[in-house]
Amino acid sequence: MDSPPLAIVAMWRGHDLNDATHPPVLLAVEDLIVSYAVSADRRFGRAGDMRAVDGVSFTLGAGEVLALVGESGCGKTTLARGVAGLIRPASGRVLLCGDDVTGFGPGTSAGQRAALQMVFQDPFESLNPRKTVEATLAQPLRLNRIVAPQSRRVEVARLLDLVGLPAAAMQRYPHEFSGGQRQRIGIARALATRPEVLIADEAVSALDISIRAQLLALLRRLQRELRLAILFITHDLGVVRSFADRVIVMYLGQIVEQGPTASLFDAPRHPYTRALLAATPIADPVAARAAKRTLLGGDVPSLRAIPSGCRFHPRCPLAIARCGTEIPQSRSIAPATAVACHLVET
Ligand code: SF4
Repeated sequence: MDSPPLAIVAMWRGHDLNDATHPPVLLAVEDLIVSYAVSADRRFGRAGDMRAVDGVSFTLGAGEVLALVGESGCGKTTLARGVAGLIRPASGRVLLCGDDVTGFGPGTSAGQRAALQMVFQDPFESLNPRKTVEATLAQPLRLNRIVAPQSRRVEVARLLDLVGLPAAAMQRYPHEFSGGQRQRIGIARALATRPEVLIADEAVSALDISIRAQLLALLRRLQRELRLAILFITHDLGVVRSFADRVIVMYLGQIVEQGPTASLFDAPRHPYTRALLAATPIADPVAARAAKRTLLGGDVPSLRAIPSGCRFHPRCPLAIARCGTEIPQSRSIAPATAVACHLVET
């Protein structure tokens, strides 16, 4: 089921994609805090709020691919859900084209909801097994009044074509597709509302390597042709290098480093980023032997027992006394590059 060549889409959600006045920043996240209520237990003591995302700020530009990386449990998925309004943030703001859409509550318009869509990790669970592909894709078209009822079938076929599936797929059920094809259907469903921002949460992680590469190529093509902005969440730095324009590295609910992909890979500054990169397999055995690797020891601490000072200090091979008591502030060290570490000077 290879994709036929696509016609370049010149207009999308009413924007002329060649218009230089299109706002450069589509999504701005300001000091976002997302917390969960936790009950008392023997290990961590009393009940309270646990901050899974603690004061995160970043921007996503029109047509940009921004990767959000970090180990499992660092708060990436909670951040994505907080941005998309699937979890109500405790504080902070989410701005879409300058409008406050935090939590996507009652004050948010249907158009603003349509403009930001998510692709989930598990294509097996995110599709209703009792619905045909046509019914799955027609639902957001109907709810958002994207096209007239008589044109829905044509639009479903167009969406399938966008993701490289034939129109005949609309008659079938999710169990009749492979994992990669199901994820294509998930992407088509996300595209149905003609979003400007796509949040892909570990969207290719469950797929094997060759299918993963095809899906990444598909996302890249859609990003270019539809000028989509993509927030790409992954624990796997290996897929990021050739895919993302910029990278944000998260540790225990906070951003520790961010920068353009090439410079972050070539000259990582934060010890955690270095350790994550060291854990990424290197295909070339000579380069792998030559690489100086700082392997990451220990597990990510619980969000209920966040270390004092720098949150990374119990695992950091470069920690000094100051790291255990003083919280490092994020500092800009180059254009679009910031690091939170006492050893990194501006
Ligand atoms: Fe390591 Fe200290 Fe830098 Fe934290 S502030 S990353 S503990 S050197």
